[in-house]
Amino acid sequence: MKLQLESHHRNIPDQELIDDLVRVAKELGQDKVTIDQYNDKGRFHNTTFNRRFGSWFKALEKAGLKKTRTLNISNEELFENLVDTWTRLGRQPKYNDLTKDNSKYSSGTYEKRFGGWRKALEAFVNWVNEGEMPELPEQNSNQTTKRTPRNINWRLRAMVLMKDGARCKLCGATPQDGAKLHVDHIKPWANGGETVLENLQILCEKCNIGKSNVEV
Ligand SMILES: [Zn+2]
Repeated sequence: MKLQLESHHRNIPDQELIDDLVRVAKELGQDKVTIDQYNDKGRFHNTTFNRRFGSWFKALEKAGLKKTRTLNISNEELFENLVDTWTRLGRQPKYNDLTKDNSKYSSGTYEKRFGGWRKALEAFVNWVNEGEMPELPEQNSNQTTKRTPRNINWRLRAMVLMKDGARCKLCGATPQDGAKLHVDHIKPWANGGETVLENLQILCEKCNIGKSNVEV
């Protein structure tokens, strides 16, 4: 049955597929259609569009509809982007700060997802606070040492920013001065320093490179 449907679909003209996509958009009263929405209301299946046009986005493009990429972004990605923007700006981002230069996603995307800008920031803070902290390594009887991962995850980055403020711990430079901020292991990871809040600090790129164990 499925094979029959697919071979049938192979003969549908491109325009008929596009027309049906546009019809669904009109029916929904939207200028964009998600894959789920289409599969719910469309005559065909999204895989037919993928095969024919290369991807769902390309089909939307062909139909003159907006791409729906933002609908597929996870909250996690939105929060990580906020940490990145926060680091770039050197302070808590405001609604108007989420420009193309500073942020991958617009303020509107956050508003829509969380029901308001303020709510988005609250959700972000909750996400940071609810994160599991890496466990301090324990030495067991066999003398093998478990280490925290070297990589500083986004949650920890946010915590260090909130703890230290977005300025270099050594020279005090901020992004307003043109400094690029890094999160740095105080005791280098390679020398046994762990990836925990107490061992992390904000450094500007210059000061960070000045340290013997460079971490970018
Ligand atoms: Zn510095």
